[in-house]
Amino acid sequence: MNKSFEMELPVETAADGSSTTAAPAERFTAGGTALLPELVALRRAIHAEPEVGLRLPETQRKVLAALAPLDLELHTGTALSSVVAVLRGARPGPTVLLRADMDALPLQEATSVPFRSTNGAMHACGHDLHTAGLVGAAHLLHAHRDELAGDVVFMFQPGEEGFGGAPLMLEEGVLDVTGERPVAAYAAHVGPGPRGTFLTRTGTVTASSTTFAVEVSGRGGHGSRPHEALDPVPVLAEIVLGLQTFATRRFDAFDPVVLSVTNLAAGTGADNIIPGSARLSGTVRTTSPQALAKVEAELPSVATGIAEAHAATATTEVATGYPSVVNDPATTGAALEVLREAFGARVAEAPRPTMGAEDFSYVAQQVPATMLMLLASPPDLDGDPAPNHSPHAVFDDAVLGDQAAALALLAARALTAHAPAAG
Ligand SMILES: [Zn+2]
Repeated sequence: MNKSFEMELPVETAADGSSTTAAPAERFTAGGTALLPELVALRRAIHAEPEVGLRLPETQRKVLAALAPLDLELHTGTALSSVVAVLRGARPGPTVLLRADMDALPLQEATSVPFRSTNGAMHACGHDLHTAGLVGAAHLLHAHRDELAGDVVFMFQPGEEGFGGAPLMLEEGVLDVTGERPVAAYAAHVGPGPRGTFLTRTGTVTASSTTFAVEVSGRGGHGSRPHEALDPVPVLAEIVLGLQTFATRRFDAFDPVVLSVTNLAAGTGADNIIPGSARLSGTVRTTSPQALAKVEAELPSVATGIAEAHAATATTEVATGYPSVVNDPATTGAALEVLREAFGARVAEAPRPTMGAEDFSYVAQQVPATMLMLLASPPDLDGDPAPNHSPHAVFDDAVLGDQAAALALLAARALTAHAPAAG
């Protein structure tokens, strides 16, 4: 694969024979198109061999191999199998960061793509595309390094899916690797929808995620004599419904809260035994600090109050996960302009945040950042596309050239925009 990446990218020549110093959007988009076959091959190799969590040795190996032909400074992580690649531009200048997550989900793939995974894990959130697209951006920017004043950091991150890979990479110094804090950071995430559409917005783009678990304690007994036991099962069932009422009746409808109970556990397997305890767990998504604080403060009393009403006891754990990704207004306004120049009507402002969560938020808390969505459903699908995290999710890697070009162009333009004033 290394060999095939050593391709010539289109370089425009001006009338006087010198290569042009401006980097028009078309040169990046044409470069992305030229790289597409190699990026598709890389994406499919990653897709066929997904890895979950913070340790992704095979994925890391593929990324390092795909970057090997380039003159980059390469760093690998200690607490996780990350890759941080630094491209030094021809002249000194600011630093810009581009990030891709690389991990898959513990999910049996149910698609029929020829490169589907058979190892019990699946790239159902498109991180295989994110990884290949960022490799493409590195190749594009490397081809234009003579025009760059400043450095680009490529952040290949494991463990986005609940493992907090981004904060671990921050602890390991990804923001200080060039010696200068990045002036801007960008990440792209694929999702279902019309192929090739870019979406972003200023302000909150993703929800914060909070997990909760409730354990109801009663007293076990015989299924025929519930009055001699204290049955936790109907209490738990009431708590499931009580939590839904909590989410819909106690929050402003314009400050969205989504609560899903996703796990229920009770019983020994025997149909005539009342269990002594029962347990549920789930996730809450919020997009404002006020709603999050209210969830943390008041969710436990829903469970304990219902349990008390039935003479049982409930213990509740609430664990706040990733904060919301908040896009910086200036960075995002400029990003929308750059993307529109390159992709025209395929770029739109997202009307609202997604209730998904993303640990790019930790980067965006420290660096002015823009997270964008790239819609990538195959155009020939029957019916509605399956969502991210579905075993049926299919993303079209025909978008990889544009994805690479978009990230490269955003980085190149940010370096120019943040160049120290001449003189
Ligand atoms: Zn994801």
